[in-house]
Amino acid sequence: TSEPANVFTEGWLKRVYEEKPVKNVRSRFPPEPNGFLHIGHCKAIAVNFGFAKHHKGVCFLRYDDTNPVKEEEIYFKSILDIVKWLGFEPYQVTYSSDHFDRLYELAEELIRRDKAYVCHCSREEVNRQRGGPDNRSPRYACGHRTRPIEESITEFRAMRDGKYKAGEAYLRMKQSLTDPNEGNPQMWDLPAYRVVDKNHHHRTGDKWKIYPTYDFTHCLCDAFEEITHSMCTTEFLQSRVSYDWLLEQLDMKVPKSEEKGPMQREYGRLNVNGTILSKRRIQLLVEGTTVEKKNEDGTTEKKVIPPAVRGWDDPRLYTLVALRRRGIPAQALLKFVEELGVTDALTEIQTPRLEAAIRKHLERTVPRQMLVLDPIKVIIEDMTAEDEQELTVPYDPKGTIAGERKVRLGKEVCIDRSDFREEDSPDYFRLAPNKIVGLYNVPFPICATSFSKDGNGKVTEIKAVKAPGEKPKTYIHWVDVSTAIPVTARQYNSLFKTDSPNALDWKNGGYADDLNPNSEVIFENAVIERGLQDLIKQHSLHPAGASDDLVRFQALRTAYFCVDVVDSTEDKIVLNQIVSLREDKAK
Ligand code: ATP
Ligand code: MG
Ligand code: MG
Repeated sequence: TSEPANVFTEGWLKRVYEEKPVKNVRSRFPPEPNGFLHIGHCKAIAVNFGFAKHHKGVCFLRYDDTNPVKEEEIYFKSILDIVKWLGFEPYQVTYSSDHFDRLYELAEELIRRDKAYVCHCSREEVNRQRGGPDNRSPRYACGHRTRPIEESITEFRAMRDGKYKAGEAYLRMKQSLTDPNEGNPQMWDLPAYRVVDKNHHHRTGDKWKIYPTYDFTHCLCDAFEEITHSMCTTEFLQSRVSYDWLLEQLDMKVPKSEEKGPMQREYGRLNVNGTILSKRRIQLLVEGTTVEKKNEDGTTEKKVIPPAVRGWDDPRLYTLVALRRRGIPAQALLKFVEELGVTDALTEIQTPRLEAAIRKHLERTVPRQMLVLDPIKVIIEDMTAEDEQELTVPYDPKGTIAGERKVRLGKEVCIDRSDFREEDSPDYFRLAPNKIVGLYNVPFPICATSFSKDGNGKVTEIKAVKAPGEKPKTYIHWVDVSTAIPVTARQYNSLFKTDSPNALDWKNGGYADDLNPNSEVIFENAVIERGLQDLIKQHSLHPAGASDDLVRFQALRTAYFCVDVVDSTEDKIVLNQIVSLREDKAK
């Protein structure tokens, strides 16, 4: 075929397919619905959904909802939204909990085959059986391991019927705990079922007091859904052995063969540094916290650390809901992940690398606009009625992006405060008294003649005249006063001063000292050309999550921006900076 080479047609993913070259590929993306997805999950989605799509197969979205304590409805919805936002449609949305009855039956079957037993040992005792803290001491079995099958069945039913509290009984798989040659901890009699005290489940209600573990559930659900290729990250490499073991015990797989049953393979995680991806840490940023502070005299006091961001979708975070809201296009994310490649090695990047890829994508795909963050009014005193005009300006001066817009030019324009100086100097090329500067797309440059200030010494207004025939050294952006749209523009910088926020003290609240006070800079009085209304009309604003139909543009000489779908109102548009125009030198 003439298909260009990509991650699916060469390398690791090609070999995974060749190990099991079936006609009907079935894969799955199996998130735990206990948090919002982050940029690392984008790789998991791209790998699993992308693999199925490439082979014209199907991919399930399976919520791995076996831990009722941590699951919340909002995560379920958000995960599906994000999968769709990334451009994938699950073949079916399923839940591990759909299979609780069947899993329970198979657990009893496993006991009957003498491959599982109910154990009442404490966690500490089980750890000792498994070789102690460093797994070095000799391993041994407890008496429960050899109890009669019927007794384990009875005890397992007692677990099911609420006769035990959490920690008082487990169903353990009878693997190779006592084989001194078995070096894989995943084979040392892992738990298959546990009692959960706070056991109300969002889908099965109060039916279950026992819940299956990941190690018991995952491979079996893969088999139930007839998954062919089950891809996960490399921390599950050792789990592959127990995955196969359990399926083999239940005749769902044939030893040393991939003919029958699902095949697990492991790829390297994507870690993005320079930000925080851990759920627990993001939660601290979202909710704030209170820590105990030890004083030198030995007394302690409570210190309240306020939230550092406004929510899980705050544009400064790297959750996928945050990246979407900030305006990062889904295609740009997918392309980025694909370019990093898929192997069994860990991929570690810093946030600027992601930003560079986003910038490259936006450069070729979004229109240009003129946005003035901190406006000063310039009155061009000798403008005639003829000079006032409607300019026709292309959306992209290089012509890569089709289309043009009308830009009104009147006697009064706004320029950015940073483009004016009260005193000229030879190395300065923008506006100053008696200095000439060009205005983008305006047929004549202007020259400042005077300016006025308010009581605080802040420049409030500049008077200027046309300077036809002069050759300006620099052109600046501007906005016509009479047609300007007022907007709030939010610029974003790194949330932390350090490049390695994971190394901060997260336990005792020390991270708070490293928060960047300028992570968000808000320009309440910004103005943008009225053409933004046309861009918005072309798109139509959707509530967050409904669509990726976001309004994005490059504000000339400023940054890439996106209209915020949550905070914008009829009266006031709010813009989020997507990325800067260049890699930031300073924070
Ligand atoms: P985290 O602990 O970061 O929340 P997780 O592994 O608990 O991640 P799950 O909901 O279990 O999150 O993840 C669903 C799938 O996404 C799993 O197959 C997991 O291997 C994969 N995944 C999670 N994090 C990454 C990552 N950083 N890179 C690639 N894949 C990932
Ligand atoms: Mg997990
Ligand atoms: Mg997790």
